Formats: sequence, structure tokens, C-alpha cells
Amino acid sequence: MGKAVVCAVVVSAAVVCAATVLVMRHRMRSTGRWTKALTILKDLEEKCKTPIGKLRQVADAMTVEMHAGLASEGGSKLQMLISYVDNLPTGDEKGWFYALDLGGTNFRVLRVHLGGKLKGVIKQEFEEVSIPPHLMVGIADALFDFIADALLKFVATETESFHLPAGRQRELGFTFSFPVKQTSISSGTLIKWTKGFSIEDAIGQDVVAELTKALDRVGLDMRVSALVNDTIGTLAGGRYYHPDVIAAVILGTGTNAAYVERAQAIPKWHGLLSKSGEMVINMEWGNFRSSHLPLTDYDFALDNESLNPGEQIFEKIISGMYLGEILRRVLLRLAEEAVFFGDEVPPKLRTPFILRTPEMSAMHHDFSPDLKIVATKLKDIFEISNTSLKTRKIIIELCDTIAIRGARLAAAGIFGILKKLGRDTLKVGESQRSVVALDGGLFEHYGKFSLSMENTLKELLGDASETIVIEHANDGSGIGAALLAASHSQYLDSASP
Ligand code: ADP
Ligand code: MG
Repeated sequence: MGKAVVCAVVVSAAVVCAATVLVMRHRMRSTGRWTKALTILKDLEEKCKTPIGKLRQVADAMTVEMHAGLASEGGSKLQMLISYVDNLPTGDEKGWFYALDLGGTNFRVLRVHLGGKLKGVIKQEFEEVSIPPHLMVGIADALFDFIADALLKFVATETESFHLPAGRQRELGFTFSFPVKQTSISSGTLIKWTKGFSIEDAIGQDVVAELTKALDRVGLDMRVSALVNDTIGTLAGGRYYHPDVIAAVILGTGTNAAYVERAQAIPKWHGLLSKSGEMVINMEWGNFRSSHLPLTDYDFALDNESLNPGEQIFEKIISGMYLGEILRRVLLRLAEEAVFFGDEVPPKLRTPFILRTPEMSAMHHDFSPDLKIVATKLKDIFEISNTSLKTRKIIIELCDTIAIRGARLAAAGIFGILKKLGRDTLKVGESQRSVVALDGGLFEHYGKFSLSMENTLKELLGDASETIVIEHANDGSGIGAALLAASHSQYLDSASP
């Protein structure tokens, strides 16, 4: 063998050797990364577990808190607010009414023509306006002026068929979905903001008075006849169609529940009976919290950095505003600690709330074999490209863990209400049907979430599940508010139009 040939053999052997070492190191490093990633994943799954026994504990805690909140003001994390709604719609409502719905990402204005028992809802028209983010954290006048202006424009589109009897003022049902201490059916003061709103000078103010002033400023003559929130609106709208509706739950940007309570069972109502003996209670269940809730470090960090730390804990693990954000936090941890998306942490992963729940839901519902939608969303939202199928599968698992925890806890909450009403078990010889009206974008559009929630409720109810019906009250809150404006109209005693 010549010298040159020997040299070449030695050099190529050295190259092969070095390459093998590199490959092995890379493999070891990447095995290390996967091990770390799987540890993070398993830890999350462990902390988010909701076995049926835990859900029963959550439901029991919900029932206990409901009792405490009804007994006294400040007695519980659940405010159990008295809504002053004691006459739910019967179907007899007649006339032309407006409603407006404010309480999350969008704001809706609506008008209806009600035709009583025989004709029902004769006509309904609505418009949706999205709220500019700067108005969500500005001053009260700016927000209310924006709303009044939208109403003014909507009123201007009234056609011939919408004709109030001469001399009558337009009447409005106002759905305002934030915690309000109600002082009558048509007045109430704002307790606090939730869902990303933060307008200091509105807290403690009467929201109907604020709206009325704004209506005056834009020169619109309209009376606010009922103040409710989306949950009560949904309950009222649900009752209009199904007399068996006993509760309503909203799963949208935020989450809340309302139900029909016996007036006598509300000690803080001081024995004041209502005509019907019933009273709708606004639970504000988003603020529920219990040591039984499965919380993770991601939840604690999210809460700490939120506009309302320590508050709305139930909402922060269930509702549409937060699910995507929890997922983002897990992905960031994977990127930082398990080099999950390459050596550099993709900068966009650090932007709070950049991953919205509808995008998470789209990934979760990706049934393509190569998880194309997951890949596209990662690219569009975080500028992360070239992910492996293995990585994308892990992301689906994360979506599952986070969404299913929320869905199962929401079911436990509903089960807690049914328990409080004694409707959680099948009573011999009784086939009383109970309907729970559900609404909100999360419930409506996140299929895996709603399916899991409904299945979990069945699991919790066992045999009694035959008598409990979940009914999707599609945008029931707008029509509900209009119906309540009708049943609290200033013209009730005059001849119906
Ligand atoms: P809001 O609660 O703001 O009054 P909605 O009831 O329409 O309004 O709910 C909107 C919320 O529902 C959004 O903020 C989002 O969190 C959630 N949502 C909307 N579409 C989807 C979707 N496709 N998948 C999952 N969640 C969705
Ligand atoms: Mg809503």
C-alpha cells in the first residue's frame, strides 16, 4: 500500500469515527430532550387528572359554597347574587323590544317582535360589533358612549314592520355579563370586571345609570327596563321555549351559571317572598375555588400575572379566554427546558394570550394523518416550522389534557347545582325532567370539550341522567333579555299593543 492510500484510510476512518460520535451525541441529546419533554407532559397529565371521585368532591364543594353564599353576603367565594328575576317568561309576552348584550369579545344589539303564546317570536334582527381592545381598559364613559352609539345606529335601521304604538318609549333589556350587585330588576352596581376588562371608574357605579347617561348623550330616547347577565338571559330565553329549564350555564370567553332557587331557601333574602316563590340566582361560579380543584404551576403563574390575581380560579381553568393561554405556557416550558422546538426558544411563544382557544380547538380537532392543521397553526401563530409528527402528536395530547380537565370540571359544577336542587338522583315514581340551558362559543364550537362535558355529566348522574337534558340555547341571552324587558315593561298595565 502506498503512503497516500494509508493516509486516506486513516483520515476516512477518523471522519467516520467523529461522525458516529456526533450522531450518537445528537441521539443521546435528543433522547434526553424527549425524556425531559415526556416528564413535563406526564407531570401535567398527573396534575390535571379528574377521576370521578375528585369530580364528586368538587361538586360537593360547589354545593357547600352555594349554601354558604345564599346564607350571607361574603359568606362564600360564590356570591350567589339575587337577580330580582322572579317571573320568568311564560310565552305570553307581546310587543317590540330591544336587547343589548355586553360581556366578552363581542357586543350584540337585537330587536324582537313578540307575538304572545300563539305567534311566539314574530321577528328578530341583530347586529354584532366587536369591542375595540382599548375600550376594555379605558374609562367608563368611552365604553358606554361606544355602546350607545352602536344602539343609535341600529335603531336607525328600524323598518316599517317595527312600529311601537304611538307615544311609547323604546324599551331595552341590558345583558351585562360581569358581577353586578343588583338593587332592582333595572339597576345594579358593578362589583368587579372579569374576562380582560379593567375600567376602574366604573366599579361601584350603577351600570344602568351609566348606560342611560350615554343614551342621553347620543340623544337616543330608550328606557332600560331590565338588567341581567348572559346566564340569566339564557335561563329566561330557555324557559320561554322549555318550561322545564331550571338552570343555565355559559361557557364562552368566561363561564358562569344561574339557576332557579326557592325564595325561602335564600336566608339573605330575609324571607321576602316573591310572587312565584322563586328567585333566579346568579352564582358567579367563575369565582369558585376549592382545594379539590386540580391546579398546576401553569395555572398559578397565569393567575399571578392576570388582571385579577386570586380571583375567578374556576373560570381560569375552564373558559375560552384561558385554555389556549394555558397551552401556550406549557409549550413555552417545553421549548425552554426540553429544547422542544429547536435550540432557540421561538420568541412568539413568550407573548401572553397569543394562542387563542379557537386555534387550540382547531389543532385538537385535526384528524389528518400528518396533523397538517397543527403544523399550520404552529407556523402561523408562533412562526415555528419543520415540526416532526411526534412533536405534533404531543401537542394534541396537551390540548386533550387541558380541554378535558376544563370540560369535566364544568360537568362537576353542573352536577353540584343539580345536587343542591335535589335533582341528582332518580326518585321513585317521579319522572320530572330538568333542562339545563347551555350557551357560549366554547360550548358551541369546541366539540371535544362539549362532548366530554356531556359524557362526564352522564357518568356523574348514572341512572338519573335520563331525566336531565342539556339544551343548547343558541344566543338565548339576547332574546332572554328582551323577554325580561317585556315582562318588566313600564306599559304592562296599559292595554297590550
Ligand atoms: P362571549 O363569551 O365573549 O360573550 P361567545 O359566547 O360567543 O362570546 O364566546 C366566545 C368565546 O368562545 C371566545 O372567546 C372563545 O374563547 C370561544 N370560542 C369561540 N369559537 C371557538 C372555537 N371554534 N373553539 C373553541 N372555542 C371557541
Ligand atoms: Mg356572551
